[in-house]
Amino acid sequence: MNTLKALEVMREAIRQRPQELSRARRSGQQVVGYLCCYTPEEIIDALGLIPLRICRGGNEEWMEVGAQYTSTKNCAYVREVVGMFVDGKDPLLANSDFIALTTADLEMGRVAEVISYYCKIAPIVLDMPRSLDNASEKEYLLESIKDFTAELERRSGKKLDQGRLREAVALYGAIRKCLLELYELQAGERPPLSWREVFEVTQAGFYLDRRRYLTLLGDLLKEVRYESRDTGIDNRPRILLCGSIIAPGDNKLLDLIDDLGGRIVGDDLCTGRRFYQDLEVKEPSLRGIAEAYADRLPSAHIVCLRPFDEDRRFINVVNLARSYRAGGIIYHSLRFCDPFSFKALPLRDFLRQKLGNFPFLTIHTEYSSSDVEALRTRVESFLNVVASRRVRREAVESGRGQAGRP
Ligand code: SF4
Repeated sequence: MNTLKALEVMREAIRQRPQELSRARRSGQQVVGYLCCYTPEEIIDALGLIPLRICRGGNEEWMEVGAQYTSTKNCAYVREVVGMFVDGKDPLLANSDFIALTTADLEMGRVAEVISYYCKIAPIVLDMPRSLDNASEKEYLLESIKDFTAELERRSGKKLDQGRLREAVALYGAIRKCLLELYELQAGERPPLSWREVFEVTQAGFYLDRRRYLTLLGDLLKEVRYESRDTGIDNRPRILLCGSIIAPGDNKLLDLIDDLGGRIVGDDLCTGRRFYQDLEVKEPSLRGIAEAYADRLPSAHIVCLRPFDEDRRFINVVNLARSYRAGGIIYHSLRFCDPFSFKALPLRDFLRQKLGNFPFLTIHTEYSSSDVEALRTRVESFLNVVASRRVRREAVESGRGQAGRP
């Protein structure tokens, strides 16, 4: 399949981004490197600062370095992130004037403590309520966002301007709309691009200048809507990928699914669809932003004490499985990622209740390559199960599988 031109341009823009950031900083601009998808990018942008999501995954060396500064019971991702800070050589991190974190996840609060103690970095922390179900918790989030904004203003010497906030809210809204359209296209029967490409495009938006990114998204959409890129009918087993973060660089599971002939058609990852799904700022104000971030599709670490039937995360997975006609779910849980690990079984049971005996595979892993072969065997058998179920279902639907037929 030929490479998408706009995607090639994006890849090149990412390669050039560290130099571009260095130039921008030399001319007086300031960069905010942030780690969590609850960080309101609109505010960073409206202050005239450059937002940069610097999450990284799959780096075993950093994970080992980070383990010396954390507990071995911290999740693989947190250990790796700490290792990245200790190492300090990542070109995007090295170009960050300020580091922003949220306490949406307690483990991220740990990162804030560890990097301030060992790396002498004073992060700007957005303090999150543990749950976002009621009015007082939403007010708490609004107050935290006000404090976060004030701290950014204090450190950068800039003032939040209403006109710029309106512009930033419109820009980020337009970006999310483009991403959702690309997402729908990748799930089609003759998809003009793959889920993996959309995942890559989503992550390009973590790094690139957001105005340029929106233009490139427009180019990509034109290319996939109007230029023929005949991929033929894609009949590979359709997989929904859920669970813990799969950060840029963590390709182990994605490569295995690709190599073994599976096709991801949907996800609920914070580095994928959940980054922009159901996130709509209706009013360009701090209150409007707080409401939008409080009402977005919640992450697993936001406490929800409602029955599963009312838990939006569970309902979302069922909806994604239905609307993208997934034949099975691969649930990825990073070692010691408690918020996601402990939801695996309840989610499986909920899916079975809603969708019947739906194939569900839990993958418990981390960044070491030592389990690749074991994972390969499990993913391969799972894809076989999904494929043979589809063959049986199609046979039944076409009448050939019915009892009494010749
Ligand atoms: S959600 Fe899981 S992977 Fe992410 S920081 Fe928390 S424990 Fe780590």
